[in-house]
Amino acid sequence: MPPGSPVTDHRIHAGPRTRAVPGDYVLYWIQTTMRSRENPALNFAAERANELGLPLVVYQGLRPDYPWASDRLHTFILESVADMAADFADRGIPYGFYLERQRREHGEPRPDSPLEQLAGRASLVVTDYFPTFIVPRQTRRLRERIDAPVVAVDSCTIVPMAYISRAHPTARGFRTEAVAALPHFLHPVGNVEPRTRHAFEFPFESAISSRDPVPAPSLAASCDVDHAVRPSPGIRGGQRAAATRLAAFLETRLARYAEDRGDPNHPEAVSGLSPYLHFGNISPQEVLLRVRDVAAPAQYERFQDELLVWRELAHNFCHHDPRHRTLAAAPEWARKELDDHADDPRPALYSLEELERGETGSALWNAAQRAYVREGAMPNYLRMLWGKAILHWSADAGTALRTMEQLNNKYSLDGRDPNSYAGFHWILGKFDRPFYRRPVFGTVRYMSLTAAEKKFDVPAWLASESNREVPAALTAPAAAVRAGGRARGQGRGAPTPPR
Ligand SMILES: Cc1cc2nc3c(=O)[nH]c(=O)nc-3n(C[C@H](O)[C@H](O)[C@H](O)COP(=O)(O)OP(=O)(O)OC[C@H]3O[C@@H](n4cnc5c(N)ncnc54)[C@H](O)[C@@H]3O)c2cc1C
Repeated sequence: MPPGSPVTDHRIHAGPRTRAVPGDYVLYWIQTTMRSRENPALNFAAERANELGLPLVVYQGLRPDYPWASDRLHTFILESVADMAADFADRGIPYGFYLERQRREHGEPRPDSPLEQLAGRASLVVTDYFPTFIVPRQTRRLRERIDAPVVAVDSCTIVPMAYISRAHPTARGFRTEAVAALPHFLHPVGNVEPRTRHAFEFPFESAISSRDPVPAPSLAASCDVDHAVRPSPGIRGGQRAAATRLAAFLETRLARYAEDRGDPNHPEAVSGLSPYLHFGNISPQEVLLRVRDVAAPAQYERFQDELLVWRELAHNFCHHDPRHRTLAAAPEWARKELDDHADDPRPALYSLEELERGETGSALWNAAQRAYVREGAMPNYLRMLWGKAILHWSADAGTALRTMEQLNNKYSLDGRDPNSYAGFHWILGKFDRPFYRRPVFGTVRYMSLTAAEKKFDVPAWLASESNREVPAALTAPAAAVRAGGRARGQGRGAPTPPR
């Protein structure tokens, strides 16, 4: 498929209405794919605008009341917005970004919201398809409120989610199907340029100006979001930062990817691209093609297994199972095992607050959690240990799932993603097989924090972590650790994370 050729049907998730209505333009409403290039949803919107002889208008809004909204997430998004604003301006494509600083009274949509005003004049609305977080609900809500069709386009996978028609319970089965489909879908995405260009007046003033930009952290600080979760000190958002990150990975990191990716002492061996993939700053096609161009076969194979197989298995899971935020999505055998062992004594029970502050009996776990809090990232192997320990220290599997969701999605830049929910469910046995029986876990795979020393040099990792700053807001002392019984904030009375 040559670059910029028509977007295939499998990427297109049409709603109940598909026929364009009389209108002034085609509107592309950006929800999750925050890039102005190599974007199938944007290309589809431009193709339809060209067919209809209409201009293309791009809109993005940012509210302060989405779940886990914080300085960290807002800053990353605002950095992404600044890159897009500059590129759309260069290409003469009108792009309006509306920043809503204050929370709405009851969180309800306003009939005069900029999105509804713009969508009300559109012939067709194109948006991003994303199978989790607030996106499906937002898309549904707009469909209910306007006459024009709202078409969602899958720009987040290489093999479109709708191409694989069933939920795969294992990576093995998914791998066979996804790898076989790869030649059909692994091509440069390219860019479709709109033919009709007009100056356009948005019904609001854009908060981002390409001529006189306000730094993203200052803009985020002016919004009614959680200011205790600070911008990541080392990870900047946007398509330019994503391109720099990919270039660094190709140049130096990729060479030892297969050997070192599991070792937290080698953060330079991995791509660090997950936040950029989550926010849509870079296309997975571009990443895989560029890696394929330069990697040795063994490195490529391992990388493809993560980016194509494990990442898209997670999308397959969330796309096919709307219960993915709940225990109901865990495999039956694992649910039964965890249930059968629900009354086993736990080595310790920690409250959500104790866990959040990294105040458990394990120095390794505490340092990993503090890395999340400080940087918004944690190496993959530590994430596995981190999650298994949460299961070990929780009153039941449901509490463990809610705790992982709350801590991961609040702090991690790549959280709130299909990969997040696949990761939490992997901890609870999904995509895995039964192992030998253990207390608390039953036959669900157990991983030991104390045995981690056999896998990597734990003292070296702890030494490198201890040189880093701990946020002052999170250094207040936590309640004492209680072993064997239900602790504050655990079990049935646990605080419910935001929906
Ligand atoms: C409990 C738990 C929670 C997790 N939460 C998230 C999350 O919120 N967001 C997230 O993106 N990933 C999550 N993962 C998966 C994995 O840890 C990260 O994708 C990976 O560490 C990201 O680092 P990287 O970009 O350097 O990966 P690389 O090793 O460079 O891999 C390239 C890309 O492949 C994908 N990938 C790599 N490993 C995995 C994996 N195990 N599963 C699925 N996709 C993978 C990612 O998109 C990643 O960016 C979680 C894993 C666990 C065990």
